[in-house]
Amino acid sequence: MAHRLIFLGTSAGVPTRSRNVSALALQLENTKEWMLFDCGEGTQHQIMKTSLSVYNLSRIFITHLHGDHVYGLFGLLASRGMTRAESPLEIYGPAGIRQMLETVMRLSQLNLPFDLKVFEISEGTVLRYEGFRIDTVALSHSIVSYGFVLSFDEKPGHFDIKKAKKLGIPEGPLYARLKKGERITLPDGRSIEGNSLVGPSIPGKKIAIGGDNDDPMLFAPYAPFDLMIHEATYTQKDFENLPRKFRHTTAKQLAQAAQKMGTKHLILTHISPRYDKNGRISELLEEAKKYFTDEVEIAYDFMEIRI
Ligand SMILES: [Zn+2]
Ligand SMILES: [Zn+2]
Repeated sequence: MAHRLIFLGTSAGVPTRSRNVSALALQLENTKEWMLFDCGEGTQHQIMKTSLSVYNLSRIFITHLHGDHVYGLFGLLASRGMTRAESPLEIYGPAGIRQMLETVMRLSQLNLPFDLKVFEISEGTVLRYEGFRIDTVALSHSIVSYGFVLSFDEKPGHFDIKKAKKLGIPEGPLYARLKKGERITLPDGRSIEGNSLVGPSIPGKKIAIGGDNDDPMLFAPYAPFDLMIHEATYTQKDFENLPRKFRHTTAKQLAQAAQKMGTKHLILTHISPRYDKNGRISELLEEAKKYFTDEVEIAYDFMEIRI
């Protein structure tokens, strides 16, 4: 089993025919529950095209309050209410998210059957959950924007069942104790050290998820990453030719930063709609590949990653 990431929206600013605005789902292994990172308009429609349901959505993390990352929240909340979901829903976002939600809910008289818990995060906020933690990284954008670094706990090493059987250890509660690294004594008097049957512990994976940002090196204090998902709105050339500059990252800039930070797998997202036409999407990938030598790809809607 592995954790499952599903891109629900990969376009920058406005939706296109093939890409919706920002949203990313993460379902942790062995659970039905899942989390959402950003919630652009229409995210609930995207969810309906997957095997996920808003009923099992338990946490939403909002990187920043620009519409293409947050306007889908209200419809999604209302729809979750209609499913009669009673389990609480937590929403994390920058200062202002509470006022935004309360204002819309009050004006449209949206009463939810579940407990909605809203948390305003700031630079360095650490959130701890069973099996992983999330660090909040302050990014550089035209409004307050955050990135999230998910660090999964290390897992105990592999238990060598074959070896245990060879040694004649009876299956059952003794196995559980050995797995924990305890020393046991067998009925025939032999003493066996748990650690001799358990391999080295497996380090937890680390995933970086960016909000809009013009400086990906801001993630450096948390590097290296097994997986980095970050905006790359333009190619370097297009960015330089823009009459007005927006605070976004280019494919070149992201690839260089990810390479420096020792990233294993890089995914570019938040793609300017201009690349959806005339096969231009390959320009972003080609540019990234010039500066990043490990696995790199461009996100598309409904793309799934297992980690
Ligand atoms: Zn955006
Ligand atoms: Zn933005």
